[in-house]
Amino acid sequence: MALFSSKLSSLHKILQKTVLINGVRSVSGLKNEGIEVTLTKNPMPKIHEQVKSPNDIVFGKNFSDHMLIASWTKEEGWMKPKIVPYGNLSLSPALSALHYSTECFEGLKAFYGVDGKIRLFRPLENMKRMNSSAAAASLPEFDGAEYLECIKDLLRVDKDWVPKMDGCSLYIRPTFIGTEASVGVKPSNSAMLYTICGPAGPYFSGGAFNPVSLYADPKYVRAWPGGVGAFKMGGNYGPAIRIQGHATAKGCDQVLWLYGDDHQITEVGTMNIFVHWINEDGDPEIATPPLDGTILPGVTRMSLLELGATWGTHKVVERRMNMKDIIKAVEEKRMKEMFGAGTACVVCPVDRILYMDKSIHIPTVETGGEVAKRYYKELTDIQYGRAPNNDWTVTVD
Ligand SMILES: *Cc1c(COP(=O)(O)O)cnc(C)c1O
Repeated sequence: MALFSSKLSSLHKILQKTVLINGVRSVSGLKNEGIEVTLTKNPMPKIHEQVKSPNDIVFGKNFSDHMLIASWTKEEGWMKPKIVPYGNLSLSPALSALHYSTECFEGLKAFYGVDGKIRLFRPLENMKRMNSSAAAASLPEFDGAEYLECIKDLLRVDKDWVPKMDGCSLYIRPTFIGTEASVGVKPSNSAMLYTICGPAGPYFSGGAFNPVSLYADPKYVRAWPGGVGAFKMGGNYGPAIRIQGHATAKGCDQVLWLYGDDHQITEVGTMNIFVHWINEDGDPEIATPPLDGTILPGVTRMSLLELGATWGTHKVVERRMNMKDIIKAVEEKRMKEMFGAGTACVVCPVDRILYMDKSIHIPTVETGGEVAKRYYKELTDIQYGRAPNNDWTVTVD
């Protein structure tokens, strides 16, 4: 009987494992096929066991029990992806990524829905973007749809890590590094594509839609035409940390990145920037700068443009805007709202810009912030499954 039950339980395990393993897909290169799963022997306390309130979750410091790793070499192409316990990597000190930033990453979230289903928001867009970032880092191409299936397998293994608390999510960080042990400046002949996950608390604690202030100094430039600002490469973010420090020292929350002699607004911190104003023709308008190579093509940005266009209440446009335009609109009382847009916050209202030692007040709070609020509600309703099923979400069943 004991033998019988132990056989049964091992069969159960295999069955469970075949659930983890998705069907064979026939594409070349990276495949979600026969993915090996090594479960951790030391599971960590889940996030709801670690913190009392969702507001106590510190973003970026805690990671789930497992990670997904796929390796590539120039000679052999992609190896079978593996799911292994979260842990340190053993890497050469000569590693290409460490010296020349042959690296890129992604950021997306898994949401625990009101129906108990785990949802991803337009994840294929992240896979597409990661491939374009990879090309910019001379890293190999991979099949985004296959890799997404691997990420879904990782989420099945770590499903208890997706916080069920209101406004929380599991942040997913796919990372791609050149792993050749060589200090030669050339494409890495080996690479590793891995994904780690960690819980994220609500961006706006207690539902407060707190606006942020921005530091805009034309001395500092994040990206330029012909550069790599449109790619999520680590090399774009390290240097920005110092400028964020200047913003903090000036009493501001985030950097408003300007570009060009006319001080065009481009992005805010690591978010795309949106303006809601009455344009020069007297029409209500929602505007964001165009994708000219200096702007990171945000999934949130694209979604806000598409959603806004369905409302029929505003003109929704991609246009260049400079600081003169912003100041003029404020002075003529045409400015309604400004907000950042990105996966971290969905939308993040702005109420002040410090520019050339002048403080410019943006009346986002006074005008009620209706557009930012509507965007926030409509997007989070989709993400948490409160809105009817939507082709923007992928469920992890
Ligand atoms: C990631 C990122 C964004 C936002 O992109 P989402 O896909 O909406 O999260 C915007 N700007 C920069 C610089 C970024 O790195």
